[in-house]
Amino acid sequence: MVAHASNPPAKREPSDMLLRVRGTVQGVGFRPFVHQVATRLGLRGWVRNDAEGVLIRAAGSSPAVAEFLRALRAEAPAAARVQDIEAVRAGTRDDEATAAFAIAPSGPSGLPAATALPPDLAICPDCRRELLDPRDRRHRYPFINCTQCGPRYSIVERLPYDRPNTTMRAFRMCPECGAEYLSPRNRRFHAQPNACPACGPRITLRAPSREELAGEAALGEAVAVLSRGGVLAVRGVGGYHLMVDAGNDAAVAELRRRKHRDEKPFAVMFPDMEALRLAAESSAAEEELLGSPAAPIVLLRRRPTAALAAGLAPGNPWVGAFLPYSPLHLLLLAAFGRPVVATSGNLAEEPLCTDCAEAHVRLAGIAGAFLDHDRPIAHPVDDSVVRVCAAGPVLLRRARGYAPAPLRLPGTVDGSWLCVGAQMKSTVAVAAGDQLVLSPHIGDLDAAPTQAVFRRTVDVLGEIHGSRFTRVVCDRHPDYASTLYARATGLPCTAVQHHLAHVLACLLEHRSRPDGVLGVAWDGTGFGEDGTVWGGEFILLRKGEALRFARLRPFRLPGGEAAIRDGRRVALGLAHAADRASFLPLARRLGFTENESGLLDTMLERGVNSPFASSAGRLFDAAGALLGIGTHNQFEGQIPLALEAAASVRAGPSATLPFPLRPVTHGGGACAELDWEPLVAALGAGRAKGIDTSELAAQFHQALADGIVAAARAAGAGTVALGGGCFQNARLLELASAGLASAGFEVLIPRELPPNDGSIAAGQALGALWNLTSVKLP
Ligand SMILES: [Zn+2]
Ligand SMILES: [Zn+2]
Repeated sequence: MVAHASNPPAKREPSDMLLRVRGTVQGVGFRPFVHQVATRLGLRGWVRNDAEGVLIRAAGSSPAVAEFLRALRAEAPAAARVQDIEAVRAGTRDDEATAAFAIAPSGPSGLPAATALPPDLAICPDCRRELLDPRDRRHRYPFINCTQCGPRYSIVERLPYDRPNTTMRAFRMCPECGAEYLSPRNRRFHAQPNACPACGPRITLRAPSREELAGEAALGEAVAVLSRGGVLAVRGVGGYHLMVDAGNDAAVAELRRRKHRDEKPFAVMFPDMEALRLAAESSAAEEELLGSPAAPIVLLRRRPTAALAAGLAPGNPWVGAFLPYSPLHLLLLAAFGRPVVATSGNLAEEPLCTDCAEAHVRLAGIAGAFLDHDRPIAHPVDDSVVRVCAAGPVLLRRARGYAPAPLRLPGTVDGSWLCVGAQMKSTVAVAAGDQLVLSPHIGDLDAAPTQAVFRRTVDVLGEIHGSRFTRVVCDRHPDYASTLYARATGLPCTAVQHHLAHVLACLLEHRSRPDGVLGVAWDGTGFGEDGTVWGGEFILLRKGEALRFARLRPFRLPGGEAAIRDGRRVALGLAHAADRASFLPLARRLGFTENESGLLDTMLERGVNSPFASSAGRLFDAAGALLGIGTHNQFEGQIPLALEAAASVRAGPSATLPFPLRPVTHGGGACAELDWEPLVAALGAGRAKGIDTSELAAQFHQALADGIVAAARAAGAGTVALGGGCFQNARLLELASAGLASAGFEVLIPRELPPNDGSIAAGQALGALWNLTSVKLP
């Protein structure tokens, strides 16, 4: 008999319950916590880890057991994430509740559980106190950790998560550490990376033609390198960072030059919250995130007075800020005393360096010195990135601290499915039983080294369920590296349409059913059902079907890929379709030569290498170019970010722009289209009248949000789910969700899964589960 845990047992009777706890409950001090609460309440029974999470036998008076159930959720350790507690009334005699409460050995070794692979956790307050306490035996020890903090996923080589299966197996615990590890009352009970200066990992500083330094000397020289304006490579939790003094213009410019990274913003690590507040505006919600066990990078508005180099994030009013999250970072930043740029230790577009020898070769032309350590990193794990908007926090990059915490599926998967995701911002997922594990951010699969990380990640996640995959799920795009990989496995393969997967990912995290939902999937480019590029889609989910209810009016992208990098080309594509007479004057104004504009005109006229797209991301690019705010995407989303930045100087626009929803017929069926033509014409007219570009940028955002609301009204579904990279734009997300909510819709926005392609693998799993894989054309 299964009862829900929220129903307390009847009063006055003795209670004896078997409790099943799911979530991130192993490797996070959950058993000692259960032991402590049960002992406090005078319960009998036991707690143990098993394949599905944690199993508890709790016997005692009914009020005590009811209180125990409450405490399991309310008082759980900070690092634990209780997904659900299911109460199965005991009544069986196979495991007698013993006299006292005990921590029992792990259950029968079945399949290792998804629950057994926790994410890496930032240093906890207790360890921080010990780190800074001169009387503590771990005073200033850069690898201090406990059950509430420290590396997890980044050190796991195979499951179950036990020390011999981590990269810590090379370090033999000293007697003192061993005693802590074995004592259930110690806060280092079964802390797998437990270590101390006598027995654990150590730091070294290495630089060309200099002798190797260790310990405090290494730390001291690392600080000296930063103070001199040098580039320091620091081996952290999930890989290397490249660091320079964030207040040193020359050092930041030199790092940018050496990394061949023209304009992409650099993240900044601050010594502490006080230093951060001097440089950026932070709300209570943002500070809570910064100090959480996940300790992500949070996008904050930079203060004009911030003592940060101008070259950190050219033309960008935000700064990606974070706090030291490992003891090594804490010691380094405290000694340096000022913020540092802390950007991924990699070559442009390649995965993070994790291995010392590899880093010394690959980063040789960038870093002047390497602050290394000898705890091997099993897999690269990037820093996570979060943005807090009016509608709540939105995870833009799900990696350290969040992945691979499991998600619960709304059904049970038959076998073990591998979902390979998209091409950009790749992640992969494994679905088995009712659990879904989404990998940390891998990167863009264009580069061969990133593809290698992709394959390694597939292998690691395969370990989680200990069984061979029985199905593979991929995108419909035939040329994605992930799709090619999926096809090559030879497994039964399900392809899920890209924008449908965006919508499903949003439904997954909100545990919503696909009935009576309008999905708004707006992104850069994705492979559409009709072979054209999609990206401004309204997908109606009803009665087990997905229908393309409306779209952005398609336009041509002259030069295909080239138009993705050059917003001016998109603007010309729009002009060509709307008003041929405006084409040549606009081409001149946008800086094209006569030759170039003649060529583009011919391409558009004949439709040569000029695919049709209904992409909202590209419409942003065109608007940015037309307003003179941004012309090129040197990194993905650069022009839309500049447009949002321009609009952000205003609270709201004084007006909106026309962006009508019109009925159209195509392919023999009826559909609706948001028509960009009056919108683009109004932007041009506003500019000609000399209206401020920030005002026009604000009006543009308002018009897009109004268009979404208009489409939702026309579709008549009660719930609207937003997904796709365009919703990384906080202004668009806020305006659209506020507009939809005030029009009476239930609005679902991506929060724990990124709006961008980082959540496609999760959406694919749900598509395969619900057999919802393609979008019907009208
Ligand atoms: Zn700790
Ligand atoms: Zn030790």
